[in-house]
Amino acid sequence: MIIISDRLLLNYKRCNRRTFLEIHGDASQQEPEKDFLVKLGRENRSHFRNVIQSRSLVPQKPQASRRDWQLNAQQTMELMHQGADCIIRGTLSVNYTQWQTALSEIALTPLPDIQSDFLAGIMFNGAPSLLIKQPGTSCFGDWQYITVNIKLGRKAKPEYKLIAAFHAYILGIVQSQTPERSLLILKEQNEHNVNLAHGLTTMQQTVGECLTMLASQQEPEVFISRQRCSLCRWYGYCHQVAKSTEHLSLVPGVTPKRYQYLQELGVNSVKSLVDVPETSLGEALGSDIARQLKQQINSLQSDRAVVRSSFDLVNTQPIPTGVIELYFDIEAEPERQTDYLLGVLLVDRTTNTEKFYAFLAERLEDEGKIWQEFLDFINLYPDAPIFHYSEYEADTIKRLARLYGTPKAQKQEVLSRLVDLHLWVNSSVIFPVESYSLKALANWIGFYWRETTGSGDQSVCWYDQWLNTQDRTLLQLILSYNEDDCRATRYLKDWLLDFLEYQRNHQLALTK
Ligand code: SF4
Repeated sequence: MIIISDRLLLNYKRCNRRTFLEIHGDASQQEPEKDFLVKLGRENRSHFRNVIQSRSLVPQKPQASRRDWQLNAQQTMELMHQGADCIIRGTLSVNYTQWQTALSEIALTPLPDIQSDFLAGIMFNGAPSLLIKQPGTSCFGDWQYITVNIKLGRKAKPEYKLIAAFHAYILGIVQSQTPERSLLILKEQNEHNVNLAHGLTTMQQTVGECLTMLASQQEPEVFISRQRCSLCRWYGYCHQVAKSTEHLSLVPGVTPKRYQYLQELGVNSVKSLVDVPETSLGEALGSDIARQLKQQINSLQSDRAVVRSSFDLVNTQPIPTGVIELYFDIEAEPERQTDYLLGVLLVDRTTNTEKFYAFLAERLEDEGKIWQEFLDFINLYPDAPIFHYSEYEADTIKRLARLYGTPKAQKQEVLSRLVDLHLWVNSSVIFPVESYSLKALANWIGFYWRETTGSGDQSVCWYDQWLNTQDRTLLQLILSYNEDDCRATRYLKDWLLDFLEYQRNHQLALTK
């Protein structure tokens, strides 16, 4: 039996390959759930409890757990029959025939023609956060239900609306009355009513596409996208597939849209990207992108860093240096909008020494205190450039200055000292790497983090655990990871400076 659940559909919206692997893949290839997702799950549950308490809801719940979905669905139905005002942890379940019959009743396009033995075993299961009783009529009597989904997001994202419509549609079959609305309760308890007139049509199309893909038994093509894949449990497997097929998504600069253009040109492998003339690429993607992609592929093939063709080696001022240099990296908790660690590596070029300074908020409310300590510290070295990697540091300085009333002149002075190495890399050098993250670049030039399991997301989890347990070893992990981020930034800056100077001298020698 194949169960099309809300979770499966949600994953389909994010990546169709993921849904395929969930049903047809080898489960042993899945990695354990990342701590960051476990933490998000905890926060979702806490938000859920807050919503229930603040609205003084007293929900009833089926005895059976949702794992025993058949019994749970039956008990949910009984509670609806009894007219329970609010139902929590229930399941709505219908089979394929019920699904198809209801489509014609509300004039939606039937699901596409798919081999019948595949469809015979399909169930559609929805697990809304709540079912709330409303005035109206249904097969239960003079009342009906609407589905409510409680989400931590700030906005009514398309995937939330998709799932809301999925739930509403199944509920319509279960209570013989399509609800007029489906409610989303978002962060800060903002409410959003999903427009079902439009939502049901979109949902029906998505379900049709999803079933067609699952029935075809054809594994969808892999496409590695850092943003989408980094937290996925199939990442290891998919990355292996992409590597073994030399998939173009591993080439930085090949976005899904550009990949489509490349395929139209007949370019669907690393080899064909090497072979295709730059002029043909330029016609499809624009000459700048074409040149950049050609350089990137050459760099990957030769495993050598190269100067970007658009970079003016001779006339561009070198990366700033100082007798004292500061390397800055932040650890932040996005959910609580708190920056809990401002780490600075001080490098003294005269003594060739370095020392790490950490401004760490052991309590969330200490953010203002560490911000002031950080400002006092960097004011001790007014001539020192402050190196960092990504725009996050500048954005954070603006945010903290606004939040804690830092004088404008002081804020501007700090901002004027920032040197974003990510911008430098983007404008000057092509690296033979799959991504331009600090970790990927630093690893390629030979720098490795002491804490091999560390990442920005993992640091957030450690901090969250620290707040709950007060276990100081977690703070040590955070500090060690952040210090190495700062040291990696220094390593990258030194490397870039040497590399660009060497290339410049080489170019000048050639033109003499
Ligand atoms: S790793 Fe990426 S491509 Fe693979 S299933 Fe997950 S999201 Fe999809």
